[in-house]
Amino acid sequence: MIANITIVGGTHGNETSGIQLVRNWQQFGVPSAYKGLSIDCYLSNMAAIDANVRFVEEDLNRQFTPALLARQPQCQEARLAHALNQQWGPKGESDIDLLIDIHNTTSAMGATLIILQADEFHTQLARYVKQQMPEANILVEDEKPPAEHAYLCSIGKRGIMIEVGAQPQGVLRADVYDLTERMALAILDFVKAYNSDSVPELPPCDVFRFIENITFPLSEDGERLAMIHPALQDNDFAPVSAGEPVFLSFDGQPQTWQGETIYPHFINEAAYHKLHVAFATATKAQL
Ligand SMILES: [Zn+2]
Repeated sequence: MIANITIVGGTHGNETSGIQLVRNWQQFGVPSAYKGLSIDCYLSNMAAIDANVRFVEEDLNRQFTPALLARQPQCQEARLAHALNQQWGPKGESDIDLLIDIHNTTSAMGATLIILQADEFHTQLARYVKQQMPEANILVEDEKPPAEHAYLCSIGKRGIMIEVGAQPQGVLRADVYDLTERMALAILDFVKAYNSDSVPELPPCDVFRFIENITFPLSEDGERLAMIHPALQDNDFAPVSAGEPVFLSFDGQPQTWQGETIYPHFINEAAYHKLHVAFATATKAQL
């Protein structure tokens, strides 16, 4: 039974679609079809939202590991994380049955549902969302146990993220907003079915399983030597096999992928600039 749902926007203060959806549902109410569910809508990083920045000092969505929550907070977002952990947690003991954290990305990932585990609940959820929105992507980040994740959504008993793009930072696009809202409603439809034991039997669906982040080629001084190859740009979740170009070096040479076929995503994500992350890789699987 999913009794308590919390929907969060503004964990990154310049990701506007989740912020606007939460504001709209706070102002006008959650659509009446979901009145039977206990849903709390919340904006998490108000200082970052007001400043229209991803974060003020550090990334709020990287503050929720057990180790970071156990130590004295060192920055504004760490203090906020501790406060949210008090309010909603503590992590591991939360009353929130499902925490839905809404993000958007500058990468062309379409509507992506990120789940942190592939247990029965999340498997059924993934299949249901995929059936309602065939264009949606399901990204499984179960490379570590859910509780070890640094994400805000990991406070809840179950935590998931809606990640939609491409949308520039600080910009609200109606098409991205629409995908965000449709995915949120598909998730709530699933919860209604789950609570009334009426989830239909659904066939396995294709998912992408996270492997690792790939950084840009760097010089010894840490300067970038290449950009994303135009053949890769905007092709999130399309397969890339050995020998296909992924980078274009500044002297005009393509650099090719070596290794097993991958499904790149978060390609050229603006927020990963400081980390020099060029894209993340995934395998394709069935869930
Ligand atoms: Zn985000």
